[in-house]
Amino acid sequence: MPSLPIYLDNNATTRTDPRVLEAMLPFFTERYGNAASRHHAFGRDAEEAVQQAREQVAQLIGAEAREIIFTSGATESDNLALKGAAWMQRQLKKGSHLVTAAAEHHAVLDPAKRLQREGFQLTILPVDQYGQVSPDQVAAALTDQTALVSIMAANNEVGTLQPIADVGRLCKERGVLFHTDAVQAVGKVPLDVEAGGIDLLSLTAHKMYGPKGVGALYVRRRNPHVRLEPRFDGGGHERGLRAGTLPVPLIVGFGKACEICQQEMAEESQRLLRLRERLRAGIMDGLTGVSLNGHPTDRLPGNLNLSFAGIHGEALLTSLKNLAVSSGSACTSANPEPSYVLRAMGVPDDLAHGSIRFGLGRFTTEEEVDWAIGEVIRAVNRLRDLNPEQEFARTINRTG
Ligand code: PLP
Repeated sequence: MPSLPIYLDNNATTRTDPRVLEAMLPFFTERYGNAASRHHAFGRDAEEAVQQAREQVAQLIGAEAREIIFTSGATESDNLALKGAAWMQRQLKKGSHLVTAAAEHHAVLDPAKRLQREGFQLTILPVDQYGQVSPDQVAAALTDQTALVSIMAANNEVGTLQPIADVGRLCKERGVLFHTDAVQAVGKVPLDVEAGGIDLLSLTAHKMYGPKGVGALYVRRRNPHVRLEPRFDGGGHERGLRAGTLPVPLIVGFGKACEICQQEMAEESQRLLRLRERLRAGIMDGLTGVSLNGHPTDRLPGNLNLSFAGIHGEALLTSLKNLAVSSGSACTSANPEPSYVLRAMGVPDDLAHGSIRFGLGRFTTEEEVDWAIGEVIRAVNRLRDLNPEQEFARTINRTG
């Protein structure tokens, strides 16, 4: 019996890896200098630690250290990317049209909509049944006024991977800046800013076994040299793009988290894929009326999103007391509307209401997965039994 409750919500956040915590601790105690205080040893020590972390983050995505701007997390990175690029492109008379997609995170959609209220034109591309946009759709949306395209690398609810490299290549050919919110993908699947034609990339430490409250924006320096209008004014930190004293312990932890992902990603993703398929098959073999949301193969190894016909996701969450999972996206779970991502994919409202996201991670064990399978089957059967007129009786679907 695994120890309860079981955490299967790694798309919402991850546990800080003990190796990351260990790397951070001295920077709260003996090594507490301000990285901007270069005139004394404490400051220089902090600055060197930040520089090392900058290199660790850069290496994971094929960038140079000086192209990494530290932020408070991906919400800030997305806002800096979209608003910073849009405002600058408009100043440079390079257009005022933005392109993004319907299944993006609110950290992208909301700044895009604010820019639209400020006078930018905005195209929100629809997604297909798997949550993907096609490069052809992006090509058709581009005009000679397009300043920026923003398409996420992997979706946070359904785990679908986007054809980022094709979109990036297209944007390069057309001379349009390309931003990707890669929060869910970095450290889970290989990502390279050169191969992907990426000009701006958002990432955050807490989705990759690092601490909460620190993230980064990759800003391309060559071919082209991307210029952004800063969102904060102050001490001129981070090449003037993000003023504010650097949170050295968090940054050190972020760097360590990136280093571990780089070393362990290949093996870890294989292990997670096996566990994810075990969970999927176990639930689908044990119940009827279960459908997979998101792409069957182009998806994050640790993500599984299932709809249970005849069940309300919130009721299922309440029944699964010892299982930490999400219905829809954690960031919007206060909202009773069905997930806008599933809606955009054309999932009918009743199935969207009955959806659960399972997020497996570095610390998930096979024993936990097996326990979760039994618990989900029991809870779904119990809820279906409570509602006698529903059509999904307590039957076993042996065909999966
Ligand atoms: N973008 C995506 C795809 C996410 O999943 C999240 C987190 O839920 C964010 C952005 C926001 O990241 P942060 O929590 O670092 O602000």
